[in-house]
Amino acid sequence: MSYKILVATRSFGSTSSKPWDVLNQAGCEIVKADMSQKMTEERLIESLQGVDGAIIGVVPMTAHVLENAPTLKVVSMHGVGVDHIDLTAAARRGVVIANCLGTNDQSVADLTIGLMISIARNIPSVDSKVRHGGWGAHAGNELWKKTIGLVGLGRIGGGVAKRALGFDMKVLAYDPYVKSGDVEQGISLVSFDEVLKEADYISLHAALSEETRHMVGAAQLKSMKPTAYLINTARGALVDEVALYEALAQKQIAGAALDVFNEEPPKDSPLLQLENLVITPHIGAHTRESIERMGVMAVENVLQTLQGGEPHCRVV
Ligand code: NAD
Repeated sequence: MSYKILVATRSFGSTSSKPWDVLNQAGCEIVKADMSQKMTEERLIESLQGVDGAIIGVVPMTAHVLENAPTLKVVSMHGVGVDHIDLTAAARRGVVIANCLGTNDQSVADLTIGLMISIARNIPSVDSKVRHGGWGAHAGNELWKKTIGLVGLGRIGGGVAKRALGFDMKVLAYDPYVKSGDVEQGISLVSFDEVLKEADYISLHAALSEETRHMVGAAQLKSMKPTAYLINTARGALVDEVALYEALAQKQIAGAALDVFNEEPPKDSPLLQLENLVITPHIGAHTRESIERMGVMAVENVLQTLQGGEPHCRVV
């Protein structure tokens, strides 16, 4: 049986033909959404007409969209976070939602360490200085023997912990859903408060939910050390960006590095003016290896479900 599959993500199959090959070998009719302009609910509804399954990035899979895509049976996120998908509406409509857990954690963990070093050593700002004829820099900070505080000790948090142990860092982690018997040697499970007070580098790796939205706000930023850095490669809305701007502008904390924002791209955000902030454009999962793994798993999630089986990682 031939299925009609929508691909609504820019990076799908961009680093290897493997994900496209699997779709083609299964005889699928492939519809590519035009991702050159912002994907609105109305454009997504239009692209979903007659479609059996969809592979998506961060596009607005709202209740309105799900209710107006009558043939849609399965959606696979080309990644992990599903906070942009209305899971309740999907369950109501009987649309299976899957994601690609475990395909991109090593890439995000690598970037997290890269961002920590980048902000601690002011790499982007000294790079720019040298290009503009300057030389020399303010002293930076080491990672060696410092304390990292992880918020969320899942796949990515765990990967960052392993790398941090390689820097001889003291690793603290806050995750209310992880039991102390299940953590690897060298990692101490502590309270959120302890992470905020003790860590030299705080790195966020929790999924976005109503429980975690704005979990780092003005009060939490105030309890951090003035020499501490905040790294966010999870989701922008974990952090209150207005409070973060204030904390960075007033030098209440030393700096921050963000791969994710409340609104992406963060057009006109005052954060863009700050020197003690390093920014990347949501590239945590963007490595050749990870894009290939996510693509193949997303295709398998969709095909397995349409063929009457289970996806690798079912969310709903
Ligand atoms: P995961 O499910 O393996 O881990 C998430 C962890 O967060 C779990 O251990 C969970 O117990 C914990 N958690 C839940 N609520 C919490 C709370 N209130 N406080 C602290 N911890 C809490 O997922 P993962 O693969 O590690 O990914 C984590 C998040 O990273 C994803 O949800 C996604 O939003 C984000 N992500 C970003 C990128 C990127 O490109 N920057 C790529 C992949 C994933």
